Amino acid sequence: MKLDTRAMRHLAAEDWRVLTAVEMGSKNHEIVPTPLIEKLARLRGGVSGVHRSISALAKVGLIARVKEAKYDGYRLTYGGLDYLALHTHASRKDVYSVGNRIGVGKESDIMVVADHSGKQCVLKIHRLGRISFRTVKSNRDYLKNRNAQSWMYLSRLAAMKEYAFMNALHEEGFPVPTPLAQSRHTIVMSLVDAFPLRQISEVPDPASLYADLISLILRLASHGLIHGDYNEFNILVKEIKSTAEDGTESIVLEPVIIDFPQMVSMEHVNAEMYFDRDVNCIKRFFLRRFHFTPSQPGPFFKDAKKTVGKGGLKRLDATVEASGFTKKMLKDLEAAIKDKKTVEEGQEGANEDDDDEYDEDSEEEEKEEEEGDDEDEGEGKQKALLSGGLSEGLLSGE
Ligand code: ADP
Ligand code: MG
Repeated sequence: MKLDTRAMRHLAAEDWRVLTAVEMGSKNHEIVPTPLIEKLARLRGGVSGVHRSISALAKVGLIARVKEAKYDGYRLTYGGLDYLALHTHASRKDVYSVGNRIGVGKESDIMVVADHSGKQCVLKIHRLGRISFRTVKSNRDYLKNRNAQSWMYLSRLAAMKEYAFMNALHEEGFPVPTPLAQSRHTIVMSLVDAFPLRQISEVPDPASLYADLISLILRLASHGLIHGDYNEFNILVKEIKSTAEDGTESIVLEPVIIDFPQMVSMEHVNAEMYFDRDVNCIKRFFLRRFHFTPSQPGPFFKDAKKTVGKGGLKRLDATVEASGFTKKMLKDLEAAIKDKKTVEEGQEGANEDDDDEYDEDSEEEEKEEEEGDDEDEGEGKQKALLSGGLSEGLLSGE
């Protein structure tokens, strides 16, 4: 789904109130009845003002009328939730304008944005309920078991968890983007000027980059954490040029890790499986891409386990669990991410180069919302740099 911010400046204060009312109402209602929207919005202009706003919002696709319902009502669309989050970021002065999309995955859209000073940052929009309809058969059960607002709940959880981990890792000095802000299903972070490892065809010294990546796995483990999706897309590699005294230039490679919604604790029941999977993913990639085989076996989970919290190292798994996540939230999110993985594996190969066509999260939604054609906007295949193209300020009057 494309984020189109064009309508944003044209929304009046009342429209935002009504949109917020629909969001509030959807906490307890799959379809928010119109009288409830009226009550929650409490506009000075009365009911007719609310109706005017409802039409305006429905027209630009931020809310959608649900016709099959026993009663007349509306639900928030992805676009509506995007606008609410952007509106919050804009009001808090974290985001001023929105630029190009630099990545689109099955679980997120990645946009370059700028703050008031013009500094470029990254907005990650989590889209956890989104599933390709080409795989819908294998997902019947998944779809059946979801209630209409679960995509909103799960996407918000993913953003909250990712932000909490990014904060904890950043504070501990790990090479991760700087977390800047979070609202609903989105986070704002610093833009890393680097290519994903996936795009790097040659490195001067594979052994040394391999060692750095493995030692990051071990360092995470010593703080009680496993990345859980440690692959060539989630490792960005910075190229830092350095000139020695004799004038010889060399390039130092510095990995930056991203993408944290699936991180797990070293205490997780399947910790060993996740740990081994991360290690093997790097091994496999280095063999395939750089024909590099490490001289030593391992590292092994049982050794890493002994280092957890050693010498008073901060337990980051505990920090995050203490930051307001209930066990149920973590379990819901884990289940959703696991479902997602099954879907990905199921369609691997079939449409590897074509994963920007992820449809909306339900058939009904697909009918209601017009899908724009998604062009290839980089998909993280290009260096994450913006060449102009920022929108005007998001708020009217800016
Ligand atoms: P997903 O959960 O969909 O995999 P990621 O967080 O891994 O999302 O981001 C997808 C792609 O977007 C990455 O592979 C990378 O190319 C790009 N990207 C994400 N965050 C940043 C960032 N902070 N700086 C630069 N590029 C980024
Ligand atoms: Mg990723």
